[in-house]
Amino acid sequence: MIKFNAALKTILDSVEIVESESVRLTDALGRVLAEDIYADSDIPGFDNSAMDGFAVKSSDTIGASQDNVKVLEVVEDIKAGDIARKILSHNQAMRIMTGAQIPKGADSVIMVEYTKKNQKSKFKIQNGTKEFVEIYKEVKAADNIRKKAEDIKKNELIISKATQLNCAHIGILASLGRPRVKASRRPKIALLATGDELVDVNQRLGPGKVRSSNTYTLYSQIIKCGCIPKNLGLAKDDPAQLEKKIRLGLDCDIILTSGGVSVGEYDLVKNVLAKIGTNIKFWQVAIRPGKPLVFGKIKKTLVFGLPGNPVSGMVSFEMFVRPAILKMSGQKEDNQKVVNAILEEDINKKKGARHFLRAKTRWKGNVYLTAISGPQGSSLLKPMSLANSLIILEEGQGPVKKGTRVRVRFLG
Ligand code: AMP
Ligand code: MG
Repeated sequence: MIKFNAALKTILDSVEIVESESVRLTDALGRVLAEDIYADSDIPGFDNSAMDGFAVKSSDTIGASQDNVKVLEVVEDIKAGDIARKILSHNQAMRIMTGAQIPKGADSVIMVEYTKKNQKSKFKIQNGTKEFVEIYKEVKAADNIRKKAEDIKKNELIISKATQLNCAHIGILASLGRPRVKASRRPKIALLATGDELVDVNQRLGPGKVRSSNTYTLYSQIIKCGCIPKNLGLAKDDPAQLEKKIRLGLDCDIILTSGGVSVGEYDLVKNVLAKIGTNIKFWQVAIRPGKPLVFGKIKKTLVFGLPGNPVSGMVSFEMFVRPAILKMSGQKEDNQKVVNAILEEDINKKKGARHFLRAKTRWKGNVYLTAISGPQGSSLLKPMSLANSLIILEEGQGPVKKGTRVRVRFLG
């Protein structure tokens, strides 16, 4: 039986990175960038006001306070998106809105909160009105100004290839005027649930039958990884039917089957895979849950024969299929965290296999604490549904005492 690390390595060594395609920004969230993005302009593109207030010369505010009010003439209003027509002179101010370009002659902005309309705020002069503002606070040069290029500098490598795009990356791309980017195409994943006992979610549950929850957990996991699912439905424990349905997945990057890979009389999936030309790389991994996993490759398609027990299937997906998808998409970093946590209870474990325990992990004070989220049977979905993480106990580990530091992987 192969160990976890060797199994994962075998899988990752079999993965080829998919081609890239041009993607609209609105479709780019979660996609893996297939090009380096260099800024072709500065962001912001010009010095602008960080506040609603008045653009001034800081030298005109020296000594300003509640008791020493400075009065400046308001010579122009600058809205966001507008540009001042005048150049600011000594003892003048321009009313300016957040985001508006700083006028020539000004070196700072005073917040509107530190100003007051002058008593004779507006009074008529020969051909128009004059307006004045009272300043109650000193400002220094550059106060309340967002400098040109303060966020992003022209020619800077701003998002590197192999990054998984988050919402802020997409904002950067929009700011740089890039409506499309090159990203890896989404891998296509076929999904077939096998077993004579299975019925689909909307079918009548006859005696001895169970609903195929795996179809829906695995489908959801495929979507969560940003892939395109191809649901091949259910197959009976019948070689001809298995063969026919598995073949329907050969146009995909990955085929996932569920069930039929254990040692029972009717566990036929491995033999059918071999018959249709799968190069089977391993069967059975020293892990719990998930031991019966089969992995192989048919031409360019990776095939995972996942165990039928609902939690086994989910954990195998998480620990083996998901890393394969990340590599296939060209992603350089996994953003699902592995942390050290303090175990809150004793756990009985025999040496031999690596265990992945469904757990609730939380941050308390300045450490992570972790406890199992319920009974650990591989058919029990409820504790899985309550878990936010998996406790990883190594092959060589025996019973683990409360208070021990253990590795925990968040489920994202
Ligand atoms: P198997 O791996 O085929 O031996 O199945 C192991 C256990 O998982 C059995 O109790 C099956 O009924 C159950 N099982 C198999 N496939 C599914 C499925 N698609 N949804 C829910 N349970 C399943
Ligand atoms: Mg079965």
